[in-house]
Amino acid sequence: MGANSAEIYDVVGVGFGPSNLAFAIALEESGGDASAGPLTSAFFERQPSFGWHRNMLLPSATMQVSFLKDLATLRNPVSRFGFVSFLHASGRLEQFINTQTFFPTREEFHQYLDWAQALFSGKVSYGSEVAGIQLPPESASATAQYLQVDVRDTVRGDIRTVAARNVVISTGLVPQVPDGVASDERVWHSSEFLERFQQVSPETLKKVAVVGAGQSGAEIARFLYDSLPQADIYAIIPSYGYSIADDTPFANRVFDSAAVDDYYFGTERSREAFWRYHKNTNYSVADDEVIRDLYQRVYMDELRGTNRLHILNMARVTNVKRMGNESRVFMESLLDGGSQDLDVNALVFATGYDSMDPSGVLGELDGYCLRDGAGRYQVGRDYRLVTTPDVSCGIYLQGGTEHTHGLTSSLLSNIAVRGGEIADSILRRRSADGPATSAPTTSA
Ligand SMILES: Cc1cc2nc3c(=O)[nH]c(=O)nc-3n(C[C@H](O)[C@H](O)[C@H](O)COP(=O)(O)OP(=O)(O)OC[C@H]3O[C@@H](n4cnc5c(N)ncnc54)[C@H](O)[C@@H]3O)c2cc1C
Repeated sequence: MGANSAEIYDVVGVGFGPSNLAFAIALEESGGDASAGPLTSAFFERQPSFGWHRNMLLPSATMQVSFLKDLATLRNPVSRFGFVSFLHASGRLEQFINTQTFFPTREEFHQYLDWAQALFSGKVSYGSEVAGIQLPPESASATAQYLQVDVRDTVRGDIRTVAARNVVISTGLVPQVPDGVASDERVWHSSEFLERFQQVSPETLKKVAVVGAGQSGAEIARFLYDSLPQADIYAIIPSYGYSIADDTPFANRVFDSAAVDDYYFGTERSREAFWRYHKNTNYSVADDEVIRDLYQRVYMDELRGTNRLHILNMARVTNVKRMGNESRVFMESLLDGGSQDLDVNALVFATGYDSMDPSGVLGELDGYCLRDGAGRYQVGRDYRLVTTPDVSCGIYLQGGTEHTHGLTSSLLSNIAVRGGEIADSILRRRSADGPATSAPTTSA
């Protein structure tokens, strides 16, 4: 498979979620440089159309970040791609102001993202999965000017190869389930929740369990309780009760763009302190509103003697046995070590995500990326992977940089600024190296 000479880009984006969308906007607004003009770019997204955590667009779910931390505003407050521009274009600006909130519903934010991505239709290919990135064969010994990006059509299965001077990998979080658990039509990870739920007839769901005490677990327990009025809902949580996400003003400063410098240029000790003191701003915690909502349901159950929302606290799932449409969930009590089991018609693992791991798409190229003593990628402040001198192309990460750039790595808070920093880095390097002239010849 050879690179089509018509398909040579300054930048190829892998994935087209909010991170690469914010980066595409930053590129667009940078306008390139006077000597070499705008950068050429293409983005590849494996979903058939734009989608941001579609399976968690639960009706009452709200954003956990201010709408001002949209795709562009923090980098460019007068951007036409900001949330306020979207509201204006949708004819809802005044109505939104009347809601008096900084936190729109996730459904509305999805509409905003969808509106913004539509403005890039000429640059994005959907149904296009990046299957691998490699050095071109002839540059095994020379410094490679281009990378080959293999893109698989998710419908037809065929692969085309494009050449890129820079790649920006933004493939998102990786769903995590406990060891030994496999998802199927009755055992779901939260990332597949709505789609799976809609495939099952509600009357077959008499007992459903949700594992996990974070935001997704709490939201799904509430949704199931409200959507299945005849069902018993079991929330299996490892803690004594749900813990609140700290979104108070001083703690929230860990998501400011300046905190990235403090983290990046800090010491091992200061970085560890960021996590120790502020992990509870985002990880394994839930919003005050959903916690109070759930508690109110438990309380009203007790009042009415109905008791259908069961909080199984200090409990850890040890095994799951599938039996037709049922699952037997084995649990260990963290209180006394005792065991308990429960038969359910559906089981939802809201057990979180691992951070982005680029090694899959990098394949052999991963071997050219330098790692620190703990085996983690070395990453520049500009989010560029540090490589051996064999690779002069830029490989940038949006995600998977918690160890170098801190808590915002997988979040929306900093995407506008980060996208701008990556665009600036690419432009700076192009000015230093001169514009791309030709792609390497590759064998077919
Ligand atoms: C339910 C939920 C709600 C959240 N809410 C918030 C919030 O309110 N505030 C906040 O700050 N953060 C939130 N987050 C964190 C979340 O990481 C960010 O919202 C956001 O999704 C990050 O954007 P991204 O583009 O980096 O990743 P993603 O949104 O995951 O996008 C990555 C994209 O890459 C595509 N892709 C993956 N592999 C390939 C490949 N090989 N080839 C082509 N395409 C590929 C995927 O299909 C996907 O569309 C939430 C997370 C979840 C799960």
